[in-house]
Amino acid sequence: MTAMVKAEQVCKSFGALRVLKGITLEIDRGQVLCLVGPSGSGKSTFLRCINHLEQVNAGRLYVDGDLIGYREKNGKLYEMAPKDAAVQRRDIGMVFQHFNLFPHRTALENIIEAPTQVKGIKKADAVTRAKDLLDQVGLSDKANAYPAQLSGGQQQRVAIARALAMDPKLMLFDEPTSALDPELVGEVLAVMKNLAREGMTMVVVTHEMGFAREVADQLVFMDGGVVVESGEPRGLLANPQHERTKAFLSKLL
Ligand code: ADP
Ligand code: MG
Repeated sequence: MTAMVKAEQVCKSFGALRVLKGITLEIDRGQVLCLVGPSGSGKSTFLRCINHLEQVNAGRLYVDGDLIGYREKNGKLYEMAPKDAAVQRRDIGMVFQHFNLFPHRTALENIIEAPTQVKGIKKADAVTRAKDLLDQVGLSDKANAYPAQLSGGQQQRVAIARALAMDPKLMLFDEPTSALDPELVGEVLAVMKNLAREGMTMVVVTHEMGFAREVADQLVFMDGGVVVESGEPRGLLANPQHERTKAFLSKLL
């Protein structure tokens, strides 16, 4: 069985700044990986490399067996045309800290945008599916609400539904609850937990250790562009092996 995500020695620099210094990890189909680490350690950059929003400088990333962003020919890698990278990206849902909904479109219109524009799905079919997705995230009564009329937690649940509308095989979450008031965090985590239970493969950057402990199959602690340690979350949280992990966790708790 191929892994859903496979990262091999992924390196990424911005000019002279080396941000990712050889990230190697694997996520099996249907598994949840939580990625944690201090600010600036390269977590967002790594997520963005998975769907080729950033180009890697070295190493390889595979999603469902496909090399991301590059084609290999005679042992050499050539960057894909943007339209081919976009095709790969369709199958990878992404949810951001700041929701990024279209402000002048309703919840429903936000959700049907990509399926109708990118995949050419008929509007009536996209609307039916969008209503199911709104139901799934607990917002069936908010189809016609604009983002400004929704709480942060509701907006984030719309953003999750929007990503799911493309039927992704992989979902990437970049600190999806960090911008929310504390009382709204739980409703978003609950939606994510359901998604995990239904078998979605997920990579989640988060500081919510309760979620990581309960939902993740694998916890990866990153610092300074490297994986410092990784493992089954309960074990890792109870008994971190590295000083850097201990220091980071002690600040969170
Ligand atoms: P994290 O998500 O763990 O907080 P990031 O991946 O956002 O870390 O950032 C890692 C480092 O890369 C930071 O020093 C950040 O300033 C830098 N960085 C991220 N994106 C860019 C960019 N587009 N250009 C230059 N530097 C960047
Ligand atoms: Mg980040």
